[in-house]
Amino acid sequence: MRDSDESRRVREVGRRTGDRPETQVLTRGYDPRLSVGSVRPAVFRSSTYVFSSPESAGRAFSIALGKQRAASGEDVELIYSRLSHPNAEILEDQIVPLDRGATCAVVFNSGMAAIGTVLLSLCRPGSGVIHTVPVYGGTHHLLYEMLVPWGINPVAVPAGDGDSLERAIRETSNLRVVFIETPANPTLRMTDIAAAVNAAGEREDRPVVVVDNTFLGPVFQHPLDIGADVCVYSATKYLAGFSDMLGGVVTTHDPALIERLKGTRALLGNILQPDESWLLDSRLPTLSLRMNHQSWNAAKITEALADHPKVEHIYYPMFIDDPDQRRIYEAQCDYPGAVFSLEIVGGKKAAFDFLRRLRITKNAVSLGGMESLACHPATTTASEMSDEELVGAGVTEGLVRISVGLEDWRDLLQDYLEALDAT
Ligand SMILES: *Cc1c(COP(=O)(O)O)cnc(C)c1O
Repeated sequence: MRDSDESRRVREVGRRTGDRPETQVLTRGYDPRLSVGSVRPAVFRSSTYVFSSPESAGRAFSIALGKQRAASGEDVELIYSRLSHPNAEILEDQIVPLDRGATCAVVFNSGMAAIGTVLLSLCRPGSGVIHTVPVYGGTHHLLYEMLVPWGINPVAVPAGDGDSLERAIRETSNLRVVFIETPANPTLRMTDIAAAVNAAGEREDRPVVVVDNTFLGPVFQHPLDIGADVCVYSATKYLAGFSDMLGGVVTTHDPALIERLKGTRALLGNILQPDESWLLDSRLPTLSLRMNHQSWNAAKITEALADHPKVEHIYYPMFIDDPDQRRIYEAQCDYPGAVFSLEIVGGKKAAFDFLRRLRITKNAVSLGGMESLACHPATTTASEMSDEELVGAGVTEGLVRISVGLEDWRDLLQDYLEALDAT
C-alpha cells in the first residue's frame, strides 16, 4: 500500500499550494522519511555536518558566501550550525504560510536578536531610521544607546500620528528604515501601515518598511499583505505561547533580504538553537487557536470592566473612540487581540494595590502566553521613556497592562473585580 495510486493522489493533494495556513503548517517543511518515519521532526543537535564529498563542501561554502547561487531545487549541504541547521530550516518553512504575504522567514534566538540583525543589516553610519513611539524598550535602547554612537540617526514619530509620519518619511535624509510598532504598547495606539508604505514608495531611495508585528501578528494583522517589506516578531510571546523560551522571527517576500539577514546571523551567532527551534515548531499549529481564544477571553473581560467606577479608561481596540484610530483598526486588524490596559482611579498606589491583590494573574512582564500576566508599564516596560514621552504616550502612573491567557475568562474577570475592590 505504500505507494498506491490512492496514497500518491492524497499526497499530491496535500502539496497543492492552495492549502490554507492551518493545513500547510502541518504539511510543509518536513519529510518524515528523512527522520526514520517519525511524525515529528528529530532534534538535530549537531554543531557541524558531514559533507558527502570535498566538492560539495566547496559548493556549500560558495553558496553560503554568496559567490554562487543555488539552482532551483538543489539540495545544498549543511555546513555548521551557526549558519543554519535542519530544525531552523523546518521552522522557517513552516512559519511562512502563517504570515500572509510572506515567502521566506529567518529565525533568531530572541525578538531583540531579530530586530538588531535587521537594523545592523540595513543601516550604515549616516542612515536615518524613523520609528514610532512608544516603541519596545529594548528597541529604544538599541537605537539610542548602541546605534546612535555608530552614526545612525533615529527619528521618533508618535504612534498613530499619520501626518507626522508621512512628513518624516518625506524629509528624513538618507532614510533607510521605517520601523513601525503597531499597535503600540501599552496603549494600543494604531499606526497606519499602508499609509507609511505609500509615503515610502514616493521616495526615489525607497526605505525598507519594517513592522514589529508581535502584538497582533501573524494571525490578526498582515503587514506584508498591505505592502510592508519586513515583519519582525518576538516569538517569545504568542508564537511560542507558553512563556518557556525566547525566540525571534523575521518574515518577508524578499529572498535577497533574507539571505542578507542570514549572513548577518551567521556572523553574530544569534540563530535559534535546535531544541528551541523544535519547541517553537511544535507551537505553530495551535497559534491561531490560542490567539483566537485569548482574544475572545479579553473581549469578554474588557466588556465587563468598561463601565467599572474604578476604571478611568480602558485601552482595547473594541473601545476606540477616535475615528481615525478606528479606521486604521478596521483596515488592518482582524481581531482586537489579548492585551488591554486599564487606567485605574487612584494613580500609582491604586495600580500597585491592584497588582498585589491579583490571585490568578501573575505580576510579570511579557505577554501572549497561556497564563495571564499583568504589569505596571510606567515603572517597568516603558521605563526607558522620558517623563515627557510617557505623558505624550498616555503611560500614566495608574496604568496597568494585562495580557490575557487561556484561563476561564469568568475566573479572570473575578480576579480583576476583586483586585479593583482592593484599590
Ligand atoms: C518582547 C518584545 C520584543 C523583544 O523580544 P524578545 O523576544 O524579548 O527579545 C520586541 N518587540 C515587542 C513588541 C515585544 O513585545
